[in-house]
Amino acid sequence: MRIDMSSTNADAPAGGKRGEVNVDKVTCDFSGNRVLHETDLTVQAGEFFTLLGPSGSGKTTLLRIIAGLIDFTSGRVSIDGSDVTRLPTQQRDIGFVFQNYALFPHLTVAQNIAFGLKLRKVRGAALTKRVDEILDLTELGSLKDRHPSQLSGGQQQRVALGRALAQRPRVLLLDEPLGALDRRLRQDLGSEIRRIQQESETTAIYVTHDQEEAYILSDRMGVMEAGFIRQVGAPREVYSAPTSAFVANFLGETN
Ligand code: ADP
Repeated sequence: MRIDMSSTNADAPAGGKRGEVNVDKVTCDFSGNRVLHETDLTVQAGEFFTLLGPSGSGKTTLLRIIAGLIDFTSGRVSIDGSDVTRLPTQQRDIGFVFQNYALFPHLTVAQNIAFGLKLRKVRGAALTKRVDEILDLTELGSLKDRHPSQLSGGQQQRVALGRALAQRPRVLLLDEPLGALDRRLRQDLGSEIRRIQQESETTAIYVTHDQEEAYILSDRMGVMEAGFIRQVGAPREVYSAPTSAFVANFLGETN
């Protein structure tokens, strides 16, 4: 299935895919501790890019900076060539999925998906059409009248993903979205996230500490350690030719 992208954001580069993200020399300090050191990163439009690294290496901080959720010390973030460093989150045209889904418990699946669209004044037939497209994309049609408490963890995450994609964001940010699920479900939902990302042609930046997930899902990945991105490349390249002892050791560990 193809989603109609014709009514999307006006900032999209002419003729090209939307959602290129540039992080330029971003430094972030928390209470005197430097947690990101002049970090540079380019994520191509339409790419599935994973930030992989151990706990505390700065993955979430970098993702939240791209989202506009935290102040940082210096540097710049741009999307499709426009500097968004000072733009509030709501104006960045991004969607999020985090580990703790936080769906609205009193709303049905369809109403959860419709929520953000209604805030943006999408109404009537356009609203119904978009909600149906998302139910189709996430294969949640048969569950559309259920409430979150009547869904499994994996189904809830699919609703969160659908809700994040409903407004056709340029960039989808995912922070350990499978972290609360068991291994089997993680694999299934991981492939589903990848399929949905490809069909919706959205750039995805995905945070995980799980090498296997990164290997299976990513077009490219960046391996982080202590506030530095140590290596960037396609998973196969990084695995076959780690450029540092840290990357070799980290990728050699099993979860
Ligand atoms: P990761 O996502 O790789 O686990 P984080 O980006 O969450 O890493 O954290 C990077 C570092 O920043 C850690 O040392 C963490 O303790 C610290 N940190 C994160 N958020 C805050 C905060 N709000 N205040 C102070 N320190 C923080």
